[in-house]
Amino acid sequence: MSFNELRLNQPLLKAIVDSGYETPTHIQMQTIPLVLAKRDVIASAQTGTGKTAAFALPILQLLFDKQDAVKKGKKIRALVISPTRELAVQIQENFKSYGKYTNLRSCVVFGGTSLEPQIDILKKGVDIVIATPGRLLDLHKQDKINLSRVETFVIDEADLMLDMGFIDDVQKIERLCPPTKQILLFSATMPFKVVQLAKTILNDPERVESTPESSAAKGVKQLLYYVPKSKKIELCLHLLRNTIRGNILIFRRTKNGVNKLEQTLLKNDYNADSIHGDKTQSDRQKALNKFKKGEVSILIATDVASRGIDIDNLDAVINFDVPNIPETYVHRIGRTGRAGNEGLSYTFCAAEERDYITAIQKLMQRAITIEEDHPYLLDPEAKPQVHKKKGSKYKKGRKSAASRRNKKRWY
Ligand code: AMP
Repeated sequence: MSFNELRLNQPLLKAIVDSGYETPTHIQMQTIPLVLAKRDVIASAQTGTGKTAAFALPILQLLFDKQDAVKKGKKIRALVISPTRELAVQIQENFKSYGKYTNLRSCVVFGGTSLEPQIDILKKGVDIVIATPGRLLDLHKQDKINLSRVETFVIDEADLMLDMGFIDDVQKIERLCPPTKQILLFSATMPFKVVQLAKTILNDPERVESTPESSAAKGVKQLLYYVPKSKKIELCLHLLRNTIRGNILIFRRTKNGVNKLEQTLLKNDYNADSIHGDKTQSDRQKALNKFKKGEVSILIATDVASRGIDIDNLDAVINFDVPNIPETYVHRIGRTGRAGNEGLSYTFCAAEERDYITAIQKLMQRAITIEEDHPYLLDPEAKPQVHKKKGSKYKKGRKSAASRRNKKRWY
């Protein structure tokens, strides 16, 4: 199938040629006709599948074709919400490049920066707004944005949006748009709460799937290292010294974990940087640019900060912590091995994470190769570490020799 067959208009087809796209991706083939037919859509699609163009192209076309109806000044007719600033910026860049031969204007609004420049752009009039939920609601509270003319509302990365606690905000924003709007919901994974949200706000949606989630990891050599939690850092250093080469993305579950690992790698003379939610927008962008340009070879990230970011040409992904959502594992390792190259993934599993591996293998319907040839092998009988609550009696008193030793190694 070609883009011509998708009945896209000339200004868009010209921009597609400029972007170097030859054929539509699977998600684009399925989604574009539905959006043009004004259907609500719920789509499972991960980053890298071309999902942004799948909604941006038909939205631009719908707005472009119906411009005569809106003669007096520009009104916001399409609204896209995204959980992170980086993703919002990336989406707007896509709208700008696909819409460059149209007179449609877009803008991006996100928190963490001053409101005034965003208000100024909104005042001049835009057709499309891409926003993070909190800032959008702030602007609305201050009466600086009018959503009463929105015709298409896109919720991107819905699973992450809900994980980040934006459910109320999403519902509020939905109610601020007219009831007749078309809604497109994109999500990398489809947990129950996303399906529930879709049921409450979408109108008879068409379901679209980019690739079955379990097959997204084909072409990646996956290795599993059983290791005690306290030895993960040593294992990581060991593999970086002896085995893993090239551009490496390391995932950790928490911001604190990202910071600790970054400090350790820097102290060991590795060229590393990190992205997580506590860093400023400009620091995150700087770290990302350095990694993309090859100035640093190791990027450490939380899922939240890295989601939606287009990082290509990865040689390896390290799952320093095993994700508790199996689809997240598939999503993470899908970042390596793109464009026909074999990718590599290294997953460090402690005793308390064994169940997560079982769930991942069940989803993928295949076993991950266990690598036992390393110096920090987990005792198969090892019991999960008990989490000690803050203020519990176990915390008080002298730390054990083992925990003092482990602490030393961390820093
Ligand atoms: P996305 O999944 O929207 O983040 O897109 C991932 C990457 O695929 C981006 O770099 C897009 O520029 C690119 N892309 C989108 N559609 C196509 C296409 N039809 N052909 C080739 N590349 C594409």
